[in-house]
Amino acid sequence: MSTDDIHARLGVRRLINVSGTMTVLGASIARSEAIEAMRAILPEFVEMDVLHRRASGVIAELTGAEAGFVTASCSAGVTLAVAATMTGSDLSAIERLPDTRGLKNEVVIQAGHLVHYGAPLDQGIRLAGATVVPVGQATSASAHQLVGAITERTAAAVYVVSCHVAMHAQIPLKAFVELAHARSVPVIVDAASEYDLKGFLSLGADVVVYSAHKFLGGPTAGIVAGSRARVRDVYLQNRGIGRGMKVGKESIAGTMAALKAWQTLDHEAIRCRDREVLHLWLAKLQGRRGIVAAIVPDPTGNPLDRVKVMVNPAEARITAWDLADRLAGGDPAVIVRDIEIEQGHFFLDPCNLHADEELVVAQRLAEELDRALSSATIVATPLHQRALAREAATFSWPN
Ligand SMILES: *Cc1c(COP(=O)(O)O)cnc(C)c1O
Repeated sequence: MSTDDIHARLGVRRLINVSGTMTVLGASIARSEAIEAMRAILPEFVEMDVLHRRASGVIAELTGAEAGFVTASCSAGVTLAVAATMTGSDLSAIERLPDTRGLKNEVVIQAGHLVHYGAPLDQGIRLAGATVVPVGQATSASAHQLVGAITERTAAAVYVVSCHVAMHAQIPLKAFVELAHARSVPVIVDAASEYDLKGFLSLGADVVVYSAHKFLGGPTAGIVAGSRARVRDVYLQNRGIGRGMKVGKESIAGTMAALKAWQTLDHEAIRCRDREVLHLWLAKLQGRRGIVAAIVPDPTGNPLDRVKVMVNPAEARITAWDLADRLAGGDPAVIVRDIEIEQGHFFLDPCNLHADEELVVAQRLAEELDRALSSATIVATPLHQRALAREAATFSWPN
C-alpha cells in the first residue's frame, strides 16, 4: 500500500517534512526494523516484566548505563524519573503520588531550561507532585544560584539538552552534576532529541531520558537509562502514576529494534546523503533575489546540518513566514523548520525525507519564490496577525 493510499484512507493530507522530528507531524519515519518487530509481537502474549528486562539489557548496551526502561514518551520518562527520586522503591509512596507529604519534593532546574516542547517541561515535573525551583533567570544561571536553590527538600536536579534552551550563560552539565552530587542530589537529563546515547551518562548524569520516536525512528516511546537501582525505581512507578503512561508490548519491541538498528546503521552514509540533499537545495536557492542560503550545524551538536534560508522581503517580495505558509499550503504540503521565523529565516532539515522528496522541496521553493517576484505587492502578513490566526485555529478543532 502506497503512502498516498493510507493518507487518502484516513482523510489526511500528504506532507513533506523538512522541519525535523515534530510530534505535531507524526514524529519521524519509523525504521522498518521497528515496524517489523511491532507487527510480530502485536498478536502474541508476552510476560511484560521479562520483555521490560530484555529492553533494559538493550538500552544498557547502547547507552553504557546499568539499566533502562521504556515508557510512553520522553516527557513521561522525565515525570517518572522525578517521581522515582522522591519515592525510591517505597510502593506505598509510589501509590500515594502526586501527594508528596513526607517526601523530598523540590526539583531544581535552570530557568533557561524551562522549555515548551508542545507542553511545558515544568508541568511534566509537577505532574509527579514535585515543586519546581527555578535557578537563575531566563538569560543566565550561575553556580552560586544552583547551590543556593538546593535545600534538604531537594529531590532532584533536571538538566535539558535542546535547541530550545537558553544557549548562553548556562551552567555546563559537568559543573551542574558536580555541584548537585556534592549535595547528594541526583541529576536527570532530558536529552529527547540528542544522538549521543553515552555522553551525558559519562559526564555523571544519574538518569538520561530520550525519545524513541525522534532520531532513532522507533515507535512513540521514551527511553530511560541510568543505574540499576534508579531505573528500577522508575520502573516501579508503573504501579502508580506511570500506569497512565504505560507502553504496550509493541512499543517495547519496536524501541528495542530501533536501538539495535541504530547500532548497525551506516551513519556516515546517511550524512553523505544528507549532504547531497543540502547541496541540492543550496544550488536551487543560489542567486535568487532576496534569498541568502547557507548550511548550518545543529545547535546542540547533533551530527546533522540544515540549510538556513534567509529571506529579505524587500527583494524577494515575500516574508519568510509567508513563504513558509505558502509552502505548507501547497500540495504536497512542505513543512519547513520555522522555530526562528520572526527573525526572517527558516531551516530545511534533511532527516525525514522519503526518496526524491528533496526534489519536490526544491521545486516548490522555486515556484513560490518565482510567484512572489511576479506579485504586484510585497507579500507581508503582519507577524502578530499570523500568530493570532494560528492560535485561533487551535480552538476550531475538531471542525
Ligand atoms: C521532544 C522533546 C520532549 C518530548 O519528547 P516526547 O518523547 O515527545 O515526550 C521533551 N524534551 C525535549 C527537550 C524535547 O525536544
